[in-house]
Order: sequence, then C-alpha cells, then structure tokens
Amino acid sequence: MITEIVKLSEATESAERYGTAFTLSPEDDAKIKSCAEIIKRGGLVVFPTETVYGLGGDATSPTAASKIYEAKGRPSDNPLIIHVSCPEEAEKYAYTTELYYRLAEAFMPGPLTVILDAKDSVPSKTRGGLSTVAVRCPTDAVARRLIELSGVPIAAPSANLSGSPSPTRAKHVIDDMLGRVDAIIDGGECEFGLESTIVKINSDDTLTLLRPGKITPTELEKIAPVTVADAVVDKLKEGEVAISPGMKYRHYAPSSPVVLLDGNLDKCLNYIEKTGQNNQAFICYTDEAEAILKRLPSLTLYPIGAREDLFTQAHLLFSILREADTKNHSCIYAHLPKREGIGLALYNRLIRAAAHTIINL
Ligand code: AMP
Ligand code: MG
Repeated sequence: MITEIVKLSEATESAERYGTAFTLSPEDDAKIKSCAEIIKRGGLVVFPTETVYGLGGDATSPTAASKIYEAKGRPSDNPLIIHVSCPEEAEKYAYTTELYYRLAEAFMPGPLTVILDAKDSVPSKTRGGLSTVAVRCPTDAVARRLIELSGVPIAAPSANLSGSPSPTRAKHVIDDMLGRVDAIIDGGECEFGLESTIVKINSDDTLTLLRPGKITPTELEKIAPVTVADAVVDKLKEGEVAISPGMKYRHYAPSSPVVLLDGNLDKCLNYIEKTGQNNQAFICYTDEAEAILKRLPSLTLYPIGAREDLFTQAHLLFSILREADTKNHSCIYAHLPKREGIGLALYNRLIRAAAHTIINL
C-alpha cells in the first residue's frame, strides 16, 4: 500500500490548536478534507491528537475495523475507542447517562474516554465483541475537523504496531505504519504524550478508572466517586478476566529489558554499578544527569525532565522508550514514579514497559 504523508503547516503544529479559538488555514483544511474522503471510502488515516497519534477508520464499518486490527497487528478482541466531534454525537452510538454529560461538561473535548453501553450502530467488530463502547471527543482541532468532515465517528487505537510504545511524533508513526495505512497526517508533536484516561460508568453512577492519563482520579472525584481498577497498578491475577481487554496485553515494551528502581539516586547508582554490565541506560531526571555522569560515565542517560515536572516526563516517555530501543541496551533503568496525579499514568505505562520488574532499594 502506498502511504501519503500529509504535512500540515507550522501554524497548525503550534500548541494553539488545542485551544478553542484556533482556526485551520484553508490549505490545511483542504488537506484534512482529502483525508476525510479516505475515511469515507473505508480507508485508514493516521491523525494527531492531544494524547498520541491515532490510527483511524470509519467506526461504523466492520471492514474498516478489521483493517485497523490488521495494520496494528492487534488482537481483534481488544476494542477500539470511537472518536466523536462533540459529546452529543455519542447519542447515536451509545446509551448516554446524566453522569456522562456531567463528565462531558467538565472534561470534553479532552483526553477522557468513557465506556458506555453500546447501541447496535457500532459494529461488534469495532467493540471487540463487547456490549459496551469507548467514546472520546478529542481537543485537537485537526482530529475534530477530520471527524466532522468524515461524517462518521472515527475508530482509532494508538497508531503503533501492537506492543510498541504509542507514537507521539510523526516520525514514530512513519517508522511503524508506512505501507500499512492510506495516509499519515503529520501535525508535529502531540501535546500530552500519554493515552487518554479511561473510565467506565457503573450502574450505581460511580466510576472505575481503567487507564490513568492526564485527567487524574482527584479531578474525576469532583464529578463522581472513583475506584482505581487493580490492574492499573498491579499485575492481573492468574485467570482474572480484564475489565478492559487492553490490560491483559504486554505494552509499551522496548526489546531491551526495562527495570524500575525504587530508591534514592545514590542507591540506584550503587545498584547499576554492581551489575557491572556494558551498554546500560538510565532514564533519569534532568537535574541528576551531571552527577550521574561524574560517577558512571559509561552509562547512557535519557533525561526525562525535572523530578517534579510530570508533564514533561509524560510528554517525553514514549519518545525516549522508542529511542532507547534502537540502541540495543543490555538494560534500561528508570525511577519508579510516585502514583499521585499524573504520576499514576507514568507509573502505569512504566510498569508495563518493565513487565512489572521493580527493584526495591
Ligand atoms: P488504544 O486504542 O490503543 O488507546 O487502547 C484503547 C484501550 O481502551 C484498550 O486498552 C482497550 O482495551 C480499551 N477499551 C476500548 N473499548 C473498551 C470497552 N468497551 N471496555 C473496556 N475497555 C475498552
Ligand atoms: Mg494503544
């Protein structure tokens, strides 16, 4: 398959496109229109969102859903999120509730995915055979315009090959998806860099957090009581059925082993030094880099941002995992994040990358 790369203007790549006042130039709008035609014809278009790049197809078409699973190499029991251009559009595809609209009022458009009971208008293939459907309305002006012009909701998982880190830059998408999709819209770097927060609305109007993201449990608690699903921070137990099918798959993992270190810098460096291996790497805090290099000059460092700057860490994590994956490191170490606020999302992604290997120092 020939993949067309659709480069948007620098103005559209700016952070302003996540604001409400942003208008696309006529040139960019025409480019997005031609991508919407591909979606209407049943093809696949990769597009940027404020979280990560999405691999999009017509959510109402079982054939498009099959193509998405195939392009990603994703098991077809792992359902797709459907992206709508406004919260009310969910009506056609899901049984919305009063709580859904309270969440929409607080967080949509935005990086929140809500699981609702599905209507038959969403093919079973898109829902991975479940009776529920995941709905999200992205903030990104490019994503929303693409959905609007397509005239259908867009089913879109992250645009990576199954098992590798989600793409946050067009280069990541090109590495994984060239020849597998009809078009890739290059809109620069994604604003946040980790996938959306996913919540399920329960019948008693409480929420279960299935995947942590930019919208934190504390923010959600202002709207309804929240329980964090065990699998967000722990391994699924033997034989346990995942509430969200994605929880059971290994994720975000580079081919080198990733090990999380729980202890202060001195203890981390003692541990790394003792292993005595060559070509090791450390995803460290930016403010530590100088001291580490003085002590272990042969260690490859990937500074991820200041210790307290969780936004920068979220923004860089997947890029760093991808870059480290090209270097054949014998081991990639990282600090175990605190589970507070956005730290919970970093923790959740890192324990998956590390296949739950945590060293308590
Ligand atoms: P991705 O599309 O790559 O961001 O992953 C979407 C995540 O949402 C996966 O972990 C899915 O298992 C999860 N998901 C999608 N639809 C549902 C649903 N109806 N119920 C529970 N989890 C879902
Ligand atoms: Mg994904």
